[in-house]
Amino acid sequence: MTSLYREPDERQAPTVGALELRDVFRIFGAGEAETVALRGLDVRVEQGELVAVVGPSGSGKSTMLRLAAGLDVPSAGDVRAFGQSLVRLTGAALARYRARDVAVVFQRGNLVASLTAAENVALSMRLAGKGTGRQAGRQRALESLAEFGLESAAGRRPQALSGGEQQRVAVAAAAARGARLVLADEPTAELDEASESGVLDALERLREGGATVVVVTHAGRVAGRADRVIEIRDGRTA
Ligand code: ADP
Repeated sequence: MTSLYREPDERQAPTVGALELRDVFRIFGAGEAETVALRGLDVRVEQGELVAVVGPSGSGKSTMLRLAAGLDVPSAGDVRAFGQSLVRLTGAALARYRARDVAVVFQRGNLVASLTAAENVALSMRLAGKGTGRQAGRQRALESLAEFGLESAAGRRPQALSGGEQQRVAVAAAAARGARLVLADEPTAELDEASESGVLDALERLREGGATVVVVTHAGRVAGRADRVIEIRDGRTA
């Protein structure tokens, strides 16, 4: 007979999700102008997953991402990152979450136009309180760019980079500052297939480094590379 008893360290430790939305509502406006963007959304993303979020335009995907990024608060329900409720975070703690733990990659405009790629990465690290010494910060920024095959981009400003390179620099910046949760909102929407593939490679590399990645996308190719696809319809998980 097999024993049901197991040593404590053999028991499955309760895992903390990287991101959890529990019965989340987000209502914009009031009265006639009221829009219910999320109506009881439940989502759980495990640590180390690469998840695609799909759904028709207006279904609430970007709203979900903004809540997860700590850029917005739900009208009701809870949003948790690594076990911590973001709804209860205020002031310095919320600022710390946004600067250190989470990174957002938008469709475009992720980089400061007047700074080179290396300076952009170094800035992102500095805001997160990393790479305090100027020299060490620059070195780490260059290493991070190299990890993503962007050595030749280091000294160039965004306008001298392709759209795909710009997005990869944004991913390298997230890696350099050690973001644990990376949220990407249609990161490849303006790219051709080859550039899209490069950005997806970069997101996979980020995940291999231990980050959890959530990508909102319309593109079937992007969803095809994810571990799991979450479909949102009308503000709920479909
Ligand atoms: P998706 O990303 O799936 O296209 P969104 O999350 O952008 O969907 O939007 C969901 C719904 O919420 C839409 O009807 C949209 O018009 C509305 N919405 C989003 N943000 C706002 C806002 N700041 N003010 C008013 N309505 C908003």
